[in-house]
Amino acid sequence: MAENIKTARILKFDIFRYNPAEPDKPPYMQRFEVEEAPYMSLFLALNQIREEQDSSLQFDFVCRSAVCGSCGMMVNGRPALGCQTLTADLPEVIALHPLPTFALIGDLSVDTGRWFRSMVDRVNGWIERETEFDRASIEAPMDNATADKIYEADRCIECGCCVAGCAVANVRPDFLGATGLNRIARFMMDPRDQRSEQSWFEVVSDSEGVFGCIGMMACDDVCPKDLPLLEVYSYVRRKAVASLFSSGEDHPARREAEKA
Ligand code: SF4
Ligand code: SF4
Repeated sequence: MAENIKTARILKFDIFRYNPAEPDKPPYMQRFEVEEAPYMSLFLALNQIREEQDSSLQFDFVCRSAVCGSCGMMVNGRPALGCQTLTADLPEVIALHPLPTFALIGDLSVDTGRWFRSMVDRVNGWIERETEFDRASIEAPMDNATADKIYEADRCIECGCCVAGCAVANVRPDFLGATGLNRIARFMMDPRDQRSEQSWFEVVSDSEGVFGCIGMMACDDVCPKDLPLLEVYSYVRRKAVASLFSSGEDHPARREAEKA
């Protein structure tokens, strides 16, 4: 009987520590040990560390159910949500770093809000119409297939994992990333948006947009909500190339497509 009793693992958390408010103190890794409990998530382990070992540890959580997108972090080098990641799926030594590409607030906490606000402003991430909105009229119906596609794109929780996992976004702060392309696609698909093909083309068709993407789909691998980012990328790229050909504009991407 005694051999069936499993002893709990002692997890070793190596956590990145840095407080930008103390610039003279260089970043360092600090080790904490925690006894693993059944169904322990990183959220539970980090809370336990903060409550019992170091109250100064900074990290973000709000909903604890993969909805608010606050708890993105690098878990053994891979972007993931802390609330969704169970320690049982990880080895005994767990390295935690803040998501790269976002401004660091301290330790594991980053400012994704500023990045997302700037991305939404750059792509005009809202419905644009030529005609004025008439509050008195009945909302135009939408077919189910289109509504489903828009719903899929709207499931993005703006956690930033796809941006942190993207090689291009890591070296180009102006790159829109998969979540930016997803945001654009969401409004491209929406029949209520009356922007012209050409105006979409101006938003996406440069190296900050779809032509900067190298298509290796790390974003698709790490998205904790399993958004169909590969489909989104193909959709936006197809639209951009079609618009490029119809405009007749001499663009490096067009020359590349013609050579292929
Ligand atoms: S496919 Fe690669 S380069 Fe393009 S957005 Fe995704 S991770 Fe970034
Ligand atoms: S696309 Fe996925 S990984 Fe990227 S921000 Fe949205 S939910 Fe997070």
